[in-house]
Amino acid sequence: MAEPRVDPPIAMLAELTHRCPLACPYCSNPLELAAKETELSTGTWARVFREAAELGVLQLHLSGGEPASRRDLEDLVRHARDAGLYTNLITSGIGLTRARLEALVAAGLDHIQLSVQGVRADISDRIGGYRGGFDRKMELASHIADLGIPLTLNAVMHRHNLDDLPATLDLALTLGARRIEVACVQFQGWALRNRAALQPSRDQVDTAKRIVAEARDRHQGRMVIDFVPPDYYADFPKACMGGWGSTGLNVAPDGTALPCHAAQTIPGLAFQNVATSALVDIWYKGPAFMAFRGTDWMPELCQTCDRRDIDFGGCRCQAMAVLGDPTATDPVCRKSPGRATLDALLAAEGEGGAAPDFIYRRPKPPVPA
Ligand code: SF4
Ligand code: SF4
Repeated sequence: MAEPRVDPPIAMLAELTHRCPLACPYCSNPLELAAKETELSTGTWARVFREAAELGVLQLHLSGGEPASRRDLEDLVRHARDAGLYTNLITSGIGLTRARLEALVAAGLDHIQLSVQGVRADISDRIGGYRGGFDRKMELASHIADLGIPLTLNAVMHRHNLDDLPATLDLALTLGARRIEVACVQFQGWALRNRAALQPSRDQVDTAKRIVAEARDRHQGRMVIDFVPPDYYADFPKACMGGWGSTGLNVAPDGTALPCHAAQTIPGLAFQNVATSALVDIWYKGPAFMAFRGTDWMPELCQTCDRRDIDFGGCRCQAMAVLGDPTATDPVCRKSPGRATLDALLAAEGEGGAAPDFIYRRPKPPVPA
């Protein structure tokens, strides 16, 4: 069998910590979070950033959890910048102050992605499970605009906020965002527990697509609108990660190197750690990265399909989550025998009766519903 050609990764997502003051029901972080004591040190991250740049990575996304929970965030940004990486901070905004923002800018931060859980304090604070969170985000957004930091607004959409899509787009414009990423919830990690509570209806999704198309015309040249529709309502899967082990990698807070955010849900994969293995070896030879690279691993259905180099057979973690088989064709695909399982889920959840209550990570949500 021919070895697939492997190019260097373009982007690396550094999950600096799993600690987060919020408790979003749609959080895609794993059920078992990495403890603070297991997080990589400043020095190890700095080395990993240098190795990433040498490997060919151009963009570094600093995420979590809430990356501002790391007191050394400013140092980490400085190290990343010294390594020559473009640095993007993905934050809920909680834990950042104007003084910290100024320090981050001084350290070389290039861009911020600020998440919002809703367009009003009541819904935002209920979903995030954090009282006063919305007001703090709005205050931070004004500082970001004031300091001239390029801003993207991130909004995870689902059954409870998809009808607020026009107001979400307006909010992004008001806050001076150059881009908004409106992504329908992906059912991975903790979000999988809340799938029935979060599942949008087909009507909501169709309306959202129309709204996005109109808004793109209206706001052309002013704000870019990225819309990620929900997988389950699509006919064909997305090219997850642009193909397994082909364009980017994630590093978990404890240093585990992952081909994608949810890769640890796939049993039997052997993951390496950046604390003990060189990033270049992990990328080019790591067993977890090799596992689903190229097309040789594909089932017959995908092997013989003319879309195999477009969507690469879809998402391995989704095949695992829905069908319990990471080597199966993504059940989103209309050709997949697993599609019936997904349709049954949608009939029960998306079009079914009242949504169940959210399940929060914490025993009781700190904000009353
Ligand atoms: S999704 Fe919510 S709870 Fe999860 S890391 Fe992001 S802000 Fe925190
Ligand atoms: S059969 Fe496989 S390659 Fe073809 S569209 Fe479906 S998931 Fe993609």
